[in-house]
Amino acid sequence: MSELKWVENRAESLLATHGLLSEWRFEWDRATTRFGQCDHRTKRITLSRHLSDKASDDDVEQVILHEIAHALAGSREGHGTKWRSIAARIGYTGGRTHHQAPATDRAKWLGRCPSGHEIIRFRKPGKPTSCAQCNPRFDKTHLIVWSVRATYSTETSFQKQT
Ligand SMILES: [Zn+2]
Ligand SMILES: [Zn+2]
Repeated sequence: MSELKWVENRAESLLATHGLLSEWRFEWDRATTRFGQCDHRTKRITLSRHLSDKASDDDVEQVILHEIAHALAGSREGHGTKWRSIAARIGYTGGRTHHQAPATDRAKWLGRCPSGHEIIRFRKPGKPTSCAQCNPRFDKTHLIVWSVRATYSTETSFQKQT
């Protein structure tokens, strides 16, 4: 979890490092559907306060770098070659869309069989399921018990970033 004040300081120092601080500003936004945004019209890089609060410092820094690369590349560049080379140069290691978490990170249900095998599902199966590792065929003695995962990400938005 990132301290908001830390993020503000980090964002400003990165803007300064890349020569943007005279024109560009960092601000928070209330988005819940994407992590970061680069607004070329108002020259602002904004981050979702909501998502930053939950993300690690490293992740937040990566989002800031992603957006700084947009600021440096220009509004028409999108995630094209120029953007990619700038992004790589300034230390962005993520992909075109940030935070493409493994799909399972967003899966909600954790199933456990009596012997402790775990499976992860996006939906809770409608009918009783038994553990395929214990017995490839349906077997009532190996029934899966479903629970909501403690750590799954509610932010499907993490995968999308503009
Ligand atoms: Zn099992
Ligand atoms: Zn982007």
